[in-house]
Amino acid sequence: VMESRAINFGAGPSALPASVLQEVTKGLLNFSGTGIGVAEISHRSKEFTAYLQNVEQNIRKLLDVQPTHSILFTQGGGSTQFSAVVLNMLARHRLLHPELKDEDRVLDYVVTGSWSKKAAEEARRLGGTVNIAADSRKSSKDQKSFDNIPTADAYSFSKDPALIYYCANETVDGVEFSHDGTSPASFPFHLLPKNALIPLVGDHSSSFMSRPIPRLSDHAIIYAGAQKNIGPAGLTVLIVRNDCIVDVDAAARLGAIPVPICLSYKTLADHNSLYNTPPVLSIYVTGLVLEHMLQLGGLDYYADLTDRKSKKLYDVLKDGETKGVFKSKVKEGSGSQMNIVFDILGEGLLAKFIAGAEERGMKGIKGHRSVGGVRVSVYNAVTEDETDQLIAYMKQFAEQHEA
Ligand code: PLP
Repeated sequence: VMESRAINFGAGPSALPASVLQEVTKGLLNFSGTGIGVAEISHRSKEFTAYLQNVEQNIRKLLDVQPTHSILFTQGGGSTQFSAVVLNMLARHRLLHPELKDEDRVLDYVVTGSWSKKAAEEARRLGGTVNIAADSRKSSKDQKSFDNIPTADAYSFSKDPALIYYCANETVDGVEFSHDGTSPASFPFHLLPKNALIPLVGDHSSSFMSRPIPRLSDHAIIYAGAQKNIGPAGLTVLIVRNDCIVDVDAAARLGAIPVPICLSYKTLADHNSLYNTPPVLSIYVTGLVLEHMLQLGGLDYYADLTDRKSKKLYDVLKDGETKGVFKSKVKEGSGSQMNIVFDILGEGLLAKFIAGAEERGMKGIKGHRSVGGVRVSVYNAVTEDETDQLIAYMKQFAEQHEA
């Protein structure tokens, strides 16, 4: 079975460490010495609740999450959080400023790709007053020009918004906020209000646990689906500053939109994420992946690995651009370290490139259907050696098809 596994460059769900997957089979049959498999055991058993606590502790350890923030586990993926963040943060804003009219409760969205665009659309659907604090496209009708992270002068934040939303890594478009704090493609933290509990919300779905999160403690909410770097689909991890876990029913009595019980962060927090049945199996696998990550050296290890893999890919892409075969879809300095997106120039060559990769056992590199081209995802479980194999193929392809 192991020998027949492909190299998986898919964007999500994506590769998981093979050694962890082998371990999963043991727990499927007998979890924690109980004689009951993990997919069969009660989520309220002492073995599972202890396991869940350990998963939380490991997330705290890996990302250095302080007691100012709670870690909550839920389901529904990133898309459900598009709604949940709006409802919980509007409830918080209502409790803080009950006197304001609805239209004065502004939600600031930074739109840098198709996921943040979707999140902004959901906020509008729920009746929020949305301010697009930045939009990286040349025109708001042009879906394909999400090719850059805006520079600081492009932002206009509201005075006291209910939330300020951004997406750390745009999985489809391949642009990512920089992590080093000095690059022009960094998130403009310096433009946010000072000395306040900033209502900053970050979708970290597709870069979660690839490296430390810049200014984590300044965030109100960080969320991520597990299915890229840390586990199977089904589990969504929330890191919520404690002042953002509010009594949504009290807010509703003051006129806020009622929050469905399982979308309320207070429900999750009050029940240690066990209000209803959690995605037990997904939590189990994620827990094993996190242990594996800690053993390898935590996020320092993965940050280095990510730097090396992505730098090599961007280098070979540049070389292929010189040869007139590849063309990056994103501006230099804005490129994602997780999802590298590019076009293949020349009639019929895209299909040929993808077919050639498949023949060599490399899968999942077709670009998202909305933008086409190639997308290579190098999440944590993709090894440097696997990346090198793709790079060797890219070099060979560029030489053969040089314009
Ligand atoms: N946000 C980002 C950055 C994503 O990449 C995705 C999915 O790929 C989503 C949100 C939506 O997540 P889900 O499919 O878990 O709802």
